[in-house]
Amino acid sequence: MTHPFLDLAPMSAAHFASIEDRVARLLSTRQDVVITQGEALLPLEGAIRSAAGPGTTALNVVTGPYGRTFGDWLRDCGATVHDLAVPFHTAVTAEQVRAAFAEHPEIGFVSLVHAEAATGNTNPVAEIGEVVREHGALLYLDAVASVGAEPVLPDAWGVDLCVIGAQKAMGGPAGVSAVSVSRRAWDRMAANPHAPRRSYLSLLDWKERWTDAGRRALPHAPAQLEMLALEACVARIEAEGLDTVMSRHAAAAAATRAGASALDGLEPYVYEAADAAPVATTLRTAPGLDASELVARALAADPALPLAAGGGALAGEMVRVNHYGPAATGDTVLACLSALAAALTESGRPADAAAARRAAADLLA
Ligand SMILES: *Cc1c(COP(=O)(O)O)cnc(C)c1O
Repeated sequence: MTHPFLDLAPMSAAHFASIEDRVARLLSTRQDVVITQGEALLPLEGAIRSAAGPGTTALNVVTGPYGRTFGDWLRDCGATVHDLAVPFHTAVTAEQVRAAFAEHPEIGFVSLVHAEAATGNTNPVAEIGEVVREHGALLYLDAVASVGAEPVLPDAWGVDLCVIGAQKAMGGPAGVSAVSVSRRAWDRMAANPHAPRRSYLSLLDWKERWTDAGRRALPHAPAQLEMLALEACVARIEAEGLDTVMSRHAAAAAATRAGASALDGLEPYVYEAADAAPVATTLRTAPGLDASELVARALAADPALPLAAGGGALAGEMVRVNHYGPAATGDTVLACLSALAAALTESGRPADAAAARRAAADLLA
């Protein structure tokens, strides 16, 4: 008997290329889109190692844990790195980036995370892109947590390396990812003697053996299940409409923020709503109220809810409501608010679930 996952017909080069083209359309980009056969950390690391080296001066914007990782990779490549760290309750501004260029005019590479699911903030990429362009630097963007939840427009914003993964707002697979690459970025890689070649991390290998070769023969066996899942996920977004998918995320975020604000013991972690990411909402617990314990109580009542405590040092004070992908619905938001209200009440802080649901429902209509 044939198995639906195992006994698949081989994936043709044309089919693979068509999935790349659909991802490019999703990003409204005319840049080359390279699909990478692994979780998004693969192109995130590959793009840094390809474009940066000992001669590179990089501005690394840190608005959450991923920015820290990028700084480590950049240093490991031999780049000189200037970190611009902003508190996790806010976003970086274009003015801060401009000031960094004024202080270090030799900056030639800027790494930035668009939205951070881990800290709940989102950064103004369009404005930052303008500043980066004025200075002729390359802009590298982690859009894994923003794609599908808010606009991601590499061409309009001047992003040279834009990495996406399907596992967050796109509601797709985690084992495959993509990066759009500008001409300038390809030139930079080609001129970098340290760019990985004949390596799993190499983007230049894909350019040479796949893109420039006319996409007629795949250099490796494709990750077929993941490619089919990616295709299905893009098809589902196309069918619903990207704008509708993004509106669902924006409504879920606004409703979660309003609902949680009505609960004594919780408040939005990101101070300004404009800095809050549509992909996930982070909440700060009142002093003395442990976020991990609160989340454990809420999940004990309903383990399927997309709730988590913050990672690492944030575990005690941050609750994350991961209302993305299929969870970007009013029902999920209301269920999360009810569960958090019940958990607060159990923790000795009587919370008004009905008030939270009303505040949220006003924004879901
Ligand atoms: C989720 C996410 C990734 C992907 O990493 P995982 O830890 O494997 O999920 C990369 N960057 C950002 C900003 C993310 O939110």
